Amino acid sequence: MKLWEKNVRRVVPYTPGEQPNQPDMIKLNTNENPYPPAPGVQNILRNMNADKMRLYPDPTAADLVGAVADFYHLQKEQVFVGVGSDDVLAMCFMTFFNSERPILFPDITYSFYDVWAQLLRIPYERPALTENFSIRKEDYYKENGGVIFPNPNAPTGVDMELEEIEDIIRHNQDVVVIVDEAYVDFGAQTALPLIEKYDNLLVVQTFSKSRSMAGMRIGYAMGNPALIRYLNDVKYSFNSYTMNRTAILTGVAAIQDKEYFEDTVRKIVETREWTKRELKKLGFSFRDSKSNFIFASHESVLAEELFMALRKEHIYVRYFSAERIKNYLRITIGTQEEMEAFIGFLQKYLDVRIH
Ligand code: PMP
Repeated sequence: MKLWEKNVRRVVPYTPGEQPNQPDMIKLNTNENPYPPAPGVQNILRNMNADKMRLYPDPTAADLVGAVADFYHLQKEQVFVGVGSDDVLAMCFMTFFNSERPILFPDITYSFYDVWAQLLRIPYERPALTENFSIRKEDYYKENGGVIFPNPNAPTGVDMELEEIEDIIRHNQDVVVIVDEAYVDFGAQTALPLIEKYDNLLVVQTFSKSRSMAGMRIGYAMGNPALIRYLNDVKYSFNSYTMNRTAILTGVAAIQDKEYFEDTVRKIVETREWTKRELKKLGFSFRDSKSNFIFASHESVLAEELFMALRKEHIYVRYFSAERIKNYLRITIGTQEEMEAFIGFLQKYLDVRIH
């Protein structure tokens, strides 16, 4: 080891899902939306003026903050925006998780949480989900330096009732509680109304899933103005210009088209319910999912085998080799046609494999 390496801030990075690029592929591995963003986004892109790129963007991203606030009937002081919810969450970890006490998040959850905790040297504990992948709210009642969990949880897809979420917040009013609602628009209950009641609650959402904008990188946090001020202080101490001009303009167009958003979400939910029925017929089991993915395990064929077989056909799903979840596939909901092709392949494969 070179001497300078002693001083390197080392971390085992998060591994994002792969981004294969085959013309014929069916991509169900990173929970993207199969439909294009709202038509207004395309219009903005068509009319962009490259000359403007000379100028720095608005560091406050006021237009985007305002559009998000309008959509949720909030004050703009209650909204923070960032480069995808990954950036927003990283800023939250840096700003609010600054205690000697461990922060708490589930053992099976979004695998970026332990990476940020390690990078920022935040102590953490991971209470185990129950056997059937539920969060036990009582596990979050002990002393801690902060709490974060996704609702619905990822990669399990399991959601929590709002009363249970409120129980967790009520027991943790001396620390910041973050509910990561990346997938909430597909049918789970949002904790957003609780931000008026609890000044220590942050609700984080994203344009990447329900608004088809994963490639543009827009996420946001909603909470008490004091929390938002603290977040902005850290953001401006790190990088003032996080949101570029294109993201601000297209983000406004995306969130203003409520009808398109609701229509897209409805189509995905319908296809999800169809996919659940078909998967059951094929011998898969899974907890009910109110997200845009299903976390399923087959009664007789191992997940890894199915993952490889699907992959050969250029059908990409996500497989995690971690201990408690290594016999599950996380299947993103694509278009109805994509899911029919996916189910069609499984029918044929399992038929040959089992009989
Ligand atoms: N939270 C959860 C639970 C996720 O699964 C993801 C998607 N990888 C994110 C946050 C981050 O999404 P984005 O940065 O695209 O908003």
